[in-house]
Amino acid sequence: MIEVRRMAGKKYGIREVFATLQGEGAQAGTPAVFLRFAGCNLGYDVCPWCDTDWVKAAYTLDLEGTLDFVRATAEQGFGGEKPGLLLVATGGEPSLQFDRPLSDALRARGYRITMESNGSRPVDRSLVDWLTVSPKQAQFAQKEGDELKLLYTGGAAPGITPDVDAVRRIADGTRFGQYFLQPVDVPVLGGPNYGETIAAVMELGPPWRMSVQTHKVAGIP
Ligand code: SF4
Repeated sequence: MIEVRRMAGKKYGIREVFATLQGEGAQAGTPAVFLRFAGCNLGYDVCPWCDTDWVKAAYTLDLEGTLDFVRATAEQGFGGEKPGLLLVATGGEPSLQFDRPLSDALRARGYRITMESNGSRPVDRSLVDWLTVSPKQAQFAQKEGDELKLLYTGGAAPGITPDVDAVRRIADGTRFGQYFLQPVDVPVLGGPNYGETIAAVMELGPPWRMSVQTHKVAGIP
């Protein structure tokens, strides 16, 4: 059990901090501390299949308290804050809270910072070492980054990607290092829509690749 210290000063609303392997995208399999912020500017009306609990902050911590929590989690998970360990800032929408003091302090501890944003608002890329954008609306603000990760809803669920033409339109004019389509996981339909996502990636061709939620396959957080 990690003891969390609460102090005065600017506060971050945090849902959870945990050690695991990054499950998705180009960095799948990489040891990482996940820092999940509470709060999202889109919400379950826009993303009815959202599989993340981001609504309520379980912890309200200042900078030092947040760093303590991250350090304790890294010690518990990896035996310490090893140089190059991935810090995944996620949410909810992490760009609502992630700021310069937190970025500077985490880098000073040796973390490589990844942010997973819905791209609905511009992200200051100087705050992070890797930016994943996973838009949930056809119109979005952050058009460049390290990877674009689109959930492929196809015919399985409502969303902005019912077919490959929609995928092409969303990606048009963007500049990302890597492009991923990821199946949408709809438990009532029996899980991820692998079949239609595979067909879509095969039709799209390079640079598109399929991202599998390997943490779910492996049964880890
Ligand atoms: S933007 Fe992401 S965290 Fe927010 S509701 Fe949509 S899927 Fe969930």
